[in-house]
Amino acid sequence: MEIAIIAHDGKKAEMVQFLNEQKEIFHKSEITLVSTGTTGSKVEKAGFAVTKLLSGPLGGDAQIASRVAEGLCDMVIFFRDPLEKHPHEPDIFMLMRLCDVHDVPLATNPATAARLLASIDAF
Ligand code: PGA
Repeated sequence: MEIAIIAHDGKKAEMVQFLNEQKEIFHKSEITLVSTGTTGSKVEKAGFAVTKLLSGPLGGDAQIASRVAEGLCDMVIFFRDPLEKHPHEPDIFMLMRLCDVHDVPLATNPATAARLLASIDAF
């Protein structure tokens, strides 16, 4: 199962904290992580194996959107910063739209993400 993780700058620390809180499930389940560039570097430093794509503003969100469209990505955890403006807003909307088009679970905050991961754990 492939899970994409993305965190805007104001949410990167929260993403690392979230993954640490949930690390048991990542060890138990067959999960591979893919991420945008800078998020991936932070997550890697925290000890998680992750495939890093381009940084978000340089096309990383678009690359993840493409994986969703191609059926390669099974879940997206995307901690957006709702208090900031982002130059790559069109890519962000494209990713969220394609999750809806292809019925891929998308969590945009830790509370939702925790519940989605718990649902994997149930299998
Ligand atoms: P980043 O991209 O992980 O490279 O910072 C995230 C984003 O802003 O979409």
